[in-house]
Amino acid sequence: THFGYREVPETDKERLVGRVFSNVASKYDIMNDVMSAGIHRVWKDQFIRRLAPTPGTRLLDVAGGTGDIALRFLNYCQNVHQDTTSQVHLVDINPDMVNEGRRRFKNSAYELRSQVSFEVGNAEDLSTVASNSMDAYTIAFGIRNCTHVDRVVQEAYRVLKPGGRFMCLEFSHVENPLLAQVYDTYSFEVIPAMGQIVAADRDSYQYLVESIRRFPKQEDFAAMIRAAGFYTVGKGFENLTFGVAAIHSGFKL
Ligand code: SAM
Repeated sequence: THFGYREVPETDKERLVGRVFSNVASKYDIMNDVMSAGIHRVWKDQFIRRLAPTPGTRLLDVAGGTGDIALRFLNYCQNVHQDTTSQVHLVDINPDMVNEGRRRFKNSAYELRSQVSFEVGNAEDLSTVASNSMDAYTIAFGIRNCTHVDRVVQEAYRVLKPGGRFMCLEFSHVENPLLAQVYDTYSFEVIPAMGQIVAADRDSYQYLVESIRRFPKQEDFAAMIRAAGFYTVGKGFENLTFGVAAIHSGFKL
């Protein structure tokens, strides 16, 4: 059955998001490729290049899912700096996603060197993560699903060391009206249909599309990041693919 996103009460949102990602966990990686025609890989590569981690970085990857960001981060450290000391701690609210992530790193050099660790947890309440303990915080395609985006950003601020960097990769808003029209057709018609064909789950993908539309515009999200105390360079964001996605970034001074 179709559920209207706007009619879902706040309290039910977490349960709903849990269901969406449990339904898609096993097919998640392939669906990403199908829906974005592989472009999410280019965006994630760009995201890590922007982060440009230095040797010995401690990264907290929140809503880390199956570990796409964690893996790219560790590969970057190894390939660019021959650095095998950087560490990433992945937190995700959904145990199925965390298990997919664990499986992915099983018996890898990264796991053997204890460069990667996992935890089931909520981005809005990272109580197990010490304040001022992380050099970098990433959240990729995860913040949109959180109930209280402001709390997520505040928690990011808390766990970062002074000088630490917050980086968010998220679907965003296409500003050019012509391109926006093309993108609307694609997201409201093509994506739910592909969700039905590939994952037999039209509703979950319909929800994903609607959640993208409801997420704040680039400038408004940048303002939220500043309101949490972060210093942003310039506008505080960079559009990817005409604003289909955007990278937001801020420093804890
Ligand atoms: N970061 C990964 C990537 O880019 O491939 C995964 C992105 S996936 C679209 C979104 C993830 O956010 C899911 O794994 C979901 O379980 C997680 N998530 C949703 N709400 C969350 C919350 N409140 N706290 C932590 N993780 C959450």
